[in-house]
Amino acid sequence: MNIKLDHITKRFPNRNKKIHEDVIAVNDFTFDIPDGKLIGLLGPSGCGKSTTLNLISGLEAPSAGRIYFGDTDVTDLPAENRGVGLVFQNYALYPHLTVLDNITFPLGNLRGAAKLTKEQMREKAMEAAKLVQISELMERRPSELSGGQQQRVAIARALVKMPSVLLLDEPLSNLDARLRLQTREELARIQRETGITTIFVTHDQEEAMSISDLIVVMKDGVIHQIGKPQEVYDKPCNLFVAKFLGTPPINVFEGSLKGGKLFIGEENVLDVKLTGNNDQSSGTDTAAGDSAERPVWVGIRPEGFIPDAEGPLSCELQKIEVMGRDTSVVSKHASFVGTTVRSIIPSEDAAGIAGETVRFRLKPAKVCLFDHETEETITFEAR
Ligand code: ATP
Repeated sequence: MNIKLDHITKRFPNRNKKIHEDVIAVNDFTFDIPDGKLIGLLGPSGCGKSTTLNLISGLEAPSAGRIYFGDTDVTDLPAENRGVGLVFQNYALYPHLTVLDNITFPLGNLRGAAKLTKEQMREKAMEAAKLVQISELMERRPSELSGGQQQRVAIARALVKMPSVLLLDEPLSNLDARLRLQTREELARIQRETGITTIFVTHDQEEAMSISDLIVVMKDGVIHQIGKPQEVYDKPCNLFVAKFLGTPPINVFEGSLKGGKLFIGEENVLDVKLTGNNDQSSGTDTAAGDSAERPVWVGIRPEGFIPDAEGPLSCELQKIEVMGRDTSVVSKHASFVGTTVRSIIPSEDAAGIAGETVRFRLKPAKVCLFDHETEETITFEAR
């Protein structure tokens, strides 16, 4: 089932009596969610992720805009009639019921022609349990299960009615790191096997990047970028998205463009040609700022540095951390925004790094430029 959010806005009255404006949790949100995909809704706390899920599920009604499931306008349809499976951060299992009864619970509400016999309910529950690999736990109660197992019961319960859409709100945040890693792979598998359009909310960018077909990066109720995880990582549309994705984070420097050259401090680190509508003077393709100097933010991914004794970017070496296959080189630079520059290089290339200074060449594909004022991406080709 594809879902269309058409100019959705959600306002909440502000509880702070001194502030009269509403809280705008979701602001003019338009997004076509393709059928059968796993979508990660990603953004900092308070950016409107949960509200977006609640609007899709029908738990909240939008202040403006329409929501479509396929061709059907479901904006005014109550949550229970939308065919949506929901899993929340706290799994909210019934403690006095067995796993089997927890999973069959939603089926008990079916009425009329849809009403099921006890045996039919059991069959459906066993099917869902098999999918999430908890078939042998059906007689236990939630308190006799690990966090990961409880999480699977919650997913089975959401799947048992074969929903057309599965919505997961921070489903992994109660799990420890190892279980979290394992369960996220499980989630991706279940989604592939069922083919149910699934939207999950997380503030963990690594989690979203690792299993999503598409990620939606939000801030302050607004979509900043939608795309395949690698595309968004490689070509962020602005400085916020660039900084939000990636661990260690992108390294940001104060830089400038002049006469087709990119400078960090006094050092000409790349020769560039701007593409698209980035040129401030003419709006056409041109060498970067032929005469005037243009201040920019330069973002360099940690894997974008190549150690080179002749390299143009010289940094003050702080320390070298060997992490097996890779080595992290920690350094300082006067134009760096923050404390230390973190570059990740293959360990076999780290042998020659010593002394007070480390010099780098840059991989152009790992360098992003942003307008100093708007912080929007400036597209360029390396020359
Ligand atoms: P988190 O990651 O912290 O869960 P989120 O991205 O899911 O955050 P939402 O819970 O959707 O964010 O909240 C978005 C904004 O709307 C926040 O500023 C929040 O305070 C506000 N908000 C959410 N629900 C209500 C409500 N019922 N009444 C008033 N304001 C609300």
